[in-house]
Amino acid sequence: MWNICGTALQPGEKCQLILRPNMQSYEIPATLICGAEPGRTVVVTAQIHAGEYSGTPAVIQAAKEIDPGRLAGNLVLMHCVNTSGFWQRHWRTLPEDNFNLNAGYPGHPKGTAGERLADWFVKEIFPKTDFLLDLHGGSVQERLAPCLFYPKAEQVTEQSLAAAKALDVPYAIASYADCGEYSYAANYHSIPGLLLERGYGGGCREEWVAGHKRNIYLLLRHLGMYESGEPEPIQEPKIYEQTIYLESTKAGLWYPKIKEQSRVVKGQVLGHLEDMFGNVLQEFCAEGDGVVFYYMEGLSARERDILVAYGLEER
Ligand SMILES: [Zn+2]
Repeated sequence: MWNICGTALQPGEKCQLILRPNMQSYEIPATLICGAEPGRTVVVTAQIHAGEYSGTPAVIQAAKEIDPGRLAGNLVLMHCVNTSGFWQRHWRTLPEDNFNLNAGYPGHPKGTAGERLADWFVKEIFPKTDFLLDLHGGSVQERLAPCLFYPKAEQVTEQSLAAAKALDVPYAIASYADCGEYSYAANYHSIPGLLLERGYGGGCREEWVAGHKRNIYLLLRHLGMYESGEPEPIQEPKIYEQTIYLESTKAGLWYPKIKEQSRVVKGQVLGHLEDMFGNVLQEFCAEGDGVVFYYMEGLSARERDILVAYGLEER
């Protein structure tokens, strides 16, 4: 018997339901799968950032396909976490309170909608989780290369990185964050995990969905939980310990000079900001040699927007 979120499942059972975290009106569609054999419990979340779509169909498909009779361990598959944002087309944050589920943990049990949601994860989900996989994509105004973030959290870096190496992703980026869903779980609950990024611009291409789904299956194989017959990745991700997140220092019209996966060299112009009359406000140059993971494509840049994220090559 496996008990989670007020539901009890027998070995070999699959259940689709709506989870209601801390708030009667809030709904998270989910699939719970209790494997026929014992093993670890893996939680997969999609769309903690609304508008980063490709994870949602990947989770929906995997939830349908996985045979509980061949699974060792348990799965909590959350098809879409920021459901209010999804239906309201509110990008990234929760529309109720602008809460960022990748930055506002641990939340609060009596707080705003987002704070309650984070608190529910901390109290109800994390204590029963052995590995957390969080699926993202570039936001509506971004373009992004497929990549993943692994937590630099002493207890779990090694396990998380070992899992990253089993996946089919070109770039693995060290993350020093500690207040997002997977990063809080890693730093304060010693739960290994990964954040996968694929797709961008408010789209949902078939190949992006397939890429996310493939990585769900590769992770389950790595953890000894499920064999789906996926071919092995051809190469391991290249690891980047240091990433520059270039922020705009003022609002302006942003003209990028790079694309996702562009190689950059120290001193190269990455883009510039202009005012509404075409006067250059600021030019941005690369601090070192590296590769662009993602960048803002849209014209409107606000103060403190991330314009380009690029990983530095080791010297
Ligand atoms: Zn995201």
